[in-house]
Amino acid sequence: MKVLNDFNFEDKKALIRVDFNVPLNDKFEVTDNSRIQAAKPTIIKVLEDGGSAVLMSHLGRPKGERNPDLSLSHIVDAVSDVIGVTVKFVSDCVGEEAEKAVAELQNGEVLLLENLRFHSEEEKGDEAFAEKLSKLGDIYVNDAFGTAHRAHASTTVIAKFFPEAKCFGYLLAKEIEAIDKVMATGEKPVLAILGGAKVSSKITIIENILDKIDDLIIGGGMTYTFIKAQGGKVGDSICEDDKMELAMEILKQAKEKNVNVHIPVDVIAADAFDANANTQIVDVDKIPDGWQGLDAGPDTLQNFKKVILTSKTILWNGPIGVFEMEKFAAGTIAVGNYIAEATKEGSFSLVGGGDSVAAVKQFGFENKVSYVSTGGGAMLESLEGKTLPGIAAILEY
Ligand code: AMP
Repeated sequence: MKVLNDFNFEDKKALIRVDFNVPLNDKFEVTDNSRIQAAKPTIIKVLEDGGSAVLMSHLGRPKGERNPDLSLSHIVDAVSDVIGVTVKFVSDCVGEEAEKAVAELQNGEVLLLENLRFHSEEEKGDEAFAEKLSKLGDIYVNDAFGTAHRAHASTTVIAKFFPEAKCFGYLLAKEIEAIDKVMATGEKPVLAILGGAKVSSKITIIENILDKIDDLIIGGGMTYTFIKAQGGKVGDSICEDDKMELAMEILKQAKEKNVNVHIPVDVIAADAFDANANTQIVDVDKIPDGWQGLDAGPDTLQNFKKVILTSKTILWNGPIGVFEMEKFAAGTIAVGNYIAEATKEGSFSLVGGGDSVAAVKQFGFENKVSYVSTGGGAMLESLEGKTLPGIAAILEY
C-alpha cells in the first residue's frame, strides 16, 4: 500500500483530502480541533519535504448549495494555529480562482479550499468534478478516514487521475493498520466488546467478527434481546423481540466457532429511563416488570474484568450502559479502566464507532487505549467486512 513516506514532496503540491468537518459554535468558532490535530502530521511532512499543501474537506451538509454558515473560511484561523503556518483560503474548491490560488502557492505554504459539498457533484462522485479537483495538485493524498466509506468525488473518484501519484496520509494509514490488527494480524486472544442500544445495528459486525475473535463481550441494551431469547425475564428493558431468533443463531454460531460469549449476569435496574430513577441490582434474567436494565452490575463487571485483562487484542464498540446518565455510567467507566489496564500491560486496544468514542473522551481514556478511531461510519463498515471505496481507490492500479 502506498503511504506518505513513499513520496518526497519537494517542489510538489500535495492535494490532501482531510476531514475538517469540525464542530462550530454560534460565533463560528471551532469548539473541538481534534480532527485538525489529527491531520497535522501529514501536512507537516509535506511542508518539511519542501512542498506545499492544498487542503480539501467538507463541512456539514450544505447539500450542493453555498451556505455561508458552512464555509470553511470559519476554520482558517484554527487550522493556522494547529499547523503553525498562516493558511491561505480560496472561496471555491474548483475552477479558475482555485487554480490560480494553487498556481501561486509557494513551497512551505498551505491553501484551504472552500467546502467541497457546496457542489452537488461532490457527493454524487461526479467524474468531471473529480477531474477539476485533480488539477489542484501533483500528488493526491487521502487522509480522511471519516469519509473513506463514501464514493465521493474527492475521496474516491479523484484517485483515478493520479494513477502513479496517490497515497494514504498518516492518519488514514494508522486507521487501516489498527483495524487490520483486530481483524487479521492481532495477537491472540482477541476480544470484541460490543455494547450500545440495539442488536439490529450491530448484527453484521457480530457475524463478520465471529471468525476473527476468541471472546465476545455483549453489553448495553443489546443484552436484553439475548437474555429474553434464552427465556429470561427482562422487565421493561429495551428489547428487540423480532431479533431474538437472530440472537440465538449468533450464540449457536459462536459456539461452533469456539468463541466464548460473555453476557451480563446482573444489572443496575431502574424504575424509569431517567437520571433520577430509583435503582436496584438484580439478576439479568429476573428483572421485575416496571424495571429496566440500564447498566451492568458488579458481578458482571468482575467477569468482564477477567476476560479483558487476559486478552491481547481488544476492540471496543458501544457503551456498556446509559453512560450519559451518571447513575448508569459505572459499567462503561469500569470497562474503560480495564481496557486501559490491559493496554498498559502490553495489549493492543482499538476503540471506535460513535458513542464509545464519546464515552472514551468524556471519561478521559483517550490516551490510555492504543487507538481511538476518528471515523464512526467508516469504522463500523470496516468491521462489517466491507471494502471502503476511499481505501480501494488508493490500492487500485
Ligand atoms: P449505539 O449507537 O448503538 O452504540 O448505542 C449507544 C446508546 O446506547 C447510548 O446512547 C446508550 O445510552 C445506549 N444504551 C446503552 N445501554 C443501554 C440500555 N441498557 N438501555 C437503553 N439504552 C442503552
